[in-house]
Amino acid sequence: MGMIKNYFMPNEYVQSIFQIDFQKLSASGVKGIVTDLDNTLVGWDEAAPTEAVKNWFDKARALGITVTIVSNNNEKRVGSFSKSLNVDYIFKAKKPRGRAFDRAAKSMQLDPSEIVVIGDQMLTDVFGGNRRGLFTIMVVPVKQTDGFITKFNRMIERRLLQHFRKKGYITWEEN
Ligand SMILES: [Mg+2]
Repeated sequence: MGMIKNYFMPNEYVQSIFQIDFQKLSASGVKGIVTDLDNTLVGWDEAAPTEAVKNWFDKARALGITVTIVSNNNEKRVGSFSKSLNVDYIFKAKKPRGRAFDRAAKSMQLDPSEIVVIGDQMLTDVFGGNRRGLFTIMVVPVKQTDGFITKFNRMIERRLLQHFRKKGYITWEEN
């Protein structure tokens, strides 16, 4: 059972990316963020970053935190979104596999201990980050509508959350 926790339990859980405290992360030695795109930064069907998302990237930059967008989506989607923000990206990342996380760490020239992973899915973002020993922050998905595979993943996610709740692992506030 400890395995399940180690793999799927995020270190933090927040309502949205805007609740993430960059100052706190920076003070604890974080220098890089690997973030998911769809339903993490914007809804899966929103093509461009919102003003709020642009400000979020500016705030990270101002604190010297490098951000890489790592997404399982295709080059067209991830490339155009990331270029409009002027940030590095990895598309078709095949999360939860670890290679994309390794590539991001290497290109940011950072140690795993200096990187935080942000994403809305336990089975791809959190699992992938945890496997690589990275600090993981899970966010509530921006949009509730999802494709078929994601729906299936969400069902498993709910089971895992139930399990963590029962075990008393969940330390964040739920509403
Ligand atoms: Mg996502």
